[in-house]
Amino acid sequence: MNILVTGGAGFIGSAVCRLLVGEFGATVLNIDNLTYAANPASLRPVENSPNYAFRRADICDPAAMAEAFREFAPDAVSHLAAESHVDRSIDGPGAFIRTNIEGTYVLLDAALDYWCSLPPERADRFRFHHVSTDEVFGSLGPEGRFGEESRYLPNSPYAASKAAADHLVRAWHETFGLPTLMTNCSNNYGPYHFPEKLIPLAILKALHGEPIPVYGKGDNVRDWLYVDDHVRALYELMTRGRPGESYNIGGDGERTNLEVVTGICTLLDELLPASPHRPHSRLITFVADRPGHDRRYAMDAGKLRRELGWVPRETFETGLRKTVAWYLENRWWWEPIWSNSYGGQRLGIAPAAAAG
Ligand code: NAD
Repeated sequence: MNILVTGGAGFIGSAVCRLLVGEFGATVLNIDNLTYAANPASLRPVENSPNYAFRRADICDPAAMAEAFREFAPDAVSHLAAESHVDRSIDGPGAFIRTNIEGTYVLLDAALDYWCSLPPERADRFRFHHVSTDEVFGSLGPEGRFGEESRYLPNSPYAASKAAADHLVRAWHETFGLPTLMTNCSNNYGPYHFPEKLIPLAILKALHGEPIPVYGKGDNVRDWLYVDDHVRALYELMTRGRPGESYNIGGDGERTNLEVVTGICTLLDELLPASPHRPHSRLITFVADRPGHDRRYAMDAGKLRRELGWVPRETFETGLRKTVAWYLENRWWWEPIWSNSYGGQRLGIAPAAAAG
């Protein structure tokens, strides 16, 4: 199976490439324009595989996308390329509008042209899989979970740009018949995660003995999903999901941000008994909240379980232990980022909040 992956040098996309090539025997063309969030080092396990190729290209470039479809002749597209960090969408929404909305449009258009050129049996099997987020549904109160039919109520520029992309994907199925699939997943975590996001940021701040920032009171709740569990769900859907449908993916891992950070500190106390920073929880520091910070997300993944029998393999405890251990053992991966491109500075203070 030939799978065109976009954003395959990012966190989830690189896991998609590693598992598709390494575990599922697929042939992958990874298209990525290598923004700050990309790290080609995450692809080391597959970069020499005959089943893997990389092409540096922008998904907003129609000619480059048309050429990729023509030359690679994919059986499926796994579309993950995006600007993905909520805090950066507060600092500069333009890149999110461009890549997440315009880029998805360009890719859909190229996919549609290509799909129309396929013989019927290949056209029947083709899938365009769009990877989206629970954030499009807005914020939950203390009870309930998001279902596939939940209302779209995006609150951040990031969530709004992903919501717009979701609507385009739906329209390309309803209007043109393109066999699309859409998944909305909860917060992923695991190895190879860029350190601007909560879990790797907390690990690296703690390792350096620096204050670990927790927004507000730390009581915002996310439903944590181990990245390899997510990728297995994406593969099941790409091969067996019903075209035109959307599916929610969650990890049954609801935790407050404070519980997450405290869990990391406890693991580091155990794994680094000689650390001068023990107990690491002393480093936890409450900071000004993110503007418009959604209170709680939780996903009902019942449809995916019923139709495809998918269940996450990791609990939050086993997944977090693996993740912390990975950062301790893989300094080669994160040290260049921490010292050269992102060293843990605060992002996403809206102008009004910063002035106030
Ligand atoms: P990431 O930021 O780690 O990686 C994004 C990748 O896309 C990078 O490699 C970047 O270089 C590439 N990219 C950005 N703009 C591009 C462009 N114009 N052309 C080509 N490539 C481009 O993101 P991630 O965390 O791996 O997320 C992947 C997808 O999953 C995104 O669509 C995101 O919205 C979605 N998602 C992520 C999470 C999460 O917890 N990480 C949760 C829900 C949904």
